[in-house]
Amino acid sequence: LSTEEIAQARALHSLVCSTEVPAYSGRALRVRQGQVMRIVNVEGGQIGDFFAYNADDDFEHLSPSETRSVLLRHFPRVGQAFQSTRRRPMLTLVEDYAAGVHDMMFHACSKQFYESLGAGSNHRNCKDNFERAITTLLGRRVPIHDPVNLFQNSPLGSNGEFLLEPNLARAGDFVKLRAEMNLICVLTSCSWDLDALHSQCRPLRLEVFE
Ligand SMILES: [Zn+2]
Repeated sequence: LSTEEIAQARALHSLVCSTEVPAYSGRALRVRQGQVMRIVNVEGGQIGDFFAYNADDDFEHLSPSETRSVLLRHFPRVGQAFQSTRRRPMLTLVEDYAAGVHDMMFHACSKQFYESLGAGSNHRNCKDNFERAITTLLGRRVPIHDPVNLFQNSPLGSNGEFLLEPNLARAGDFVKLRAEMNLICVLTSCSWDLDALHSQCRPLRLEVFE
């Protein structure tokens, strides 16, 4: 996006819909090409797992690995686009109040992940919440892809290890993403709640503007 296009996308002001994503849950919705999504960290300190599919063909979806290869970065900067499995721009990062503190390396949390940590077999998790959300919207299942972990602070350390740092997102922090094709998007409020700094999951809000 050029500076002018970013300014235009920021200026969009007509709210099309606003969806709460309560703690320990997920929501799916359709977003048309050119519309801008705002994902708000309502109370702060919350990770959001984000997924996107071509609305006309869900074999094409957001690909963290294509995005990293195309941009030669761990995560897009403002003005750069998340890429699809067909190496096409899918969503452009238009604004980022989290100053680039996001992750695109980790998996979505699962039942098995919490079991492996001794948290029992009934812990809420992003993979199940994804499935519930997309099945509610489409009436059928869609295979999950690797997520974009918004607001997750897990930078790469100097020895190649991931550092698991405290979540820096403040209440009201948000990112804005512009759809570059007609999309089906899913956002889950990540259910991670097993450390002192993340002892409970919090809500997110998903707004669409045009
Ligand atoms: Zn999760």
